[in-house]
Amino acid sequence: RPRILSGMQPTDGSLHLGNYIGALRQWVALQDDFDALYFVADLHSLTVNPDPAALRERTRRTAAQYLAAGVDPSRSILFVQSHVPEHAQLGWLLQCQTGFGEASRMTQFKDKSSKQGSEGTTVGLFAYPMLMAADILLYDSALVPVGEDQRQHLELTRDLAERVNTRFGAGTVVVPDAHIVKAGAKIQDLQNPSAKMSKSSSGGKGVVWLLEDPKKAAKAVKGAVTDADETYAVRFDPAAKPGISNLLTIFSAVTGREIDDIAAEYDGRGYGYLKVDLADAVVAWLAPFQERASTYLADPAELDKVLADGADRARAIAAPVLDRVYERFGLLPVA
Ligand code: ATP
Ligand code: MG
Repeated sequence: RPRILSGMQPTDGSLHLGNYIGALRQWVALQDDFDALYFVADLHSLTVNPDPAALRERTRRTAAQYLAAGVDPSRSILFVQSHVPEHAQLGWLLQCQTGFGEASRMTQFKDKSSKQGSEGTTVGLFAYPMLMAADILLYDSALVPVGEDQRQHLELTRDLAERVNTRFGAGTVVVPDAHIVKAGAKIQDLQNPSAKMSKSSSGGKGVVWLLEDPKKAAKAVKGAVTDADETYAVRFDPAAKPGISNLLTIFSAVTGREIDDIAAEYDGRGYGYLKVDLADAVVAWLAPFQERASTYLADPAELDKVLADGADRARAIAAPVLDRVYERFGLLPVA
């Protein structure tokens, strides 16, 4: 089975419904057909200097949410990035293969650094795409299920892999397929359907957090911004009806029902009916999700054991790959 790898940064509070529908839900489905590795990207999160005590807690909470969503450590490898030191080691080698200008062209870096100013921007943020390339190349991954927002970083990974193979010999690293495994639907902010639901969305009123009080989630859904259409047409049409289409996508994801079927049920009836029922459906989905997550969080020692086991299995793959690359680069092996 082809190998795939994906990770998310540990976030403050919890992940949001966009992370679940767009990423986690896909990860769970991919476990059947791929040899999957899923990690908590704690090293990546250092680019924004999180509080140390909070970071440990967030890392466990993120892992607990992967598990609650259905990531199954008996079928996939679930681990914490910093537990596998090879990520940082290969990251350095790849930084030394990246042009300064090439890294400067990454649009995510340009966006984030222009907001933060050059003193507030760390070199880590600049080097982030090379660490991401290391994450992928360390496991000889064939495919990488990332969203459209990561396409440029994935292209850089391919460029670096080809460059390394040209300089150090064919087969030094495996060039991952550019094909992006079809990511899940994109979820929009409930207050602003033209913007992506995001942990950094301003205000956060239009975000459904996976571990927040379900009552708040219900309120956010009921308060969703929809279009002014006197016929109360309900149909999936993201261009003309972004708010309604977003609600339909969420409705389908949390209930497993077909979008057309839901649209037919609510068409012409007034958007309030759709929102109230969707709020109930979101709460009905969140409650057991939160129960599962709290079970994992109630026993951190057990959770840490699951993560330690994942790290062992990940290292068993990563260490020989790093050895191979070190050898090709001419680093003197330990006698
Ligand atoms: P940030 O605002 O800091 O970029 P984020 O909310 O976009 O944060 P990420 O950590 O960038 O979250 O994304 C983690 C995963 O979730 C990625 O695979 C990303 O594509 C996916 N994802 C994030 N937001 C959404 C969304 N609104 N809809 C669908 N997928 C999403
Ligand atoms: Mg993002």
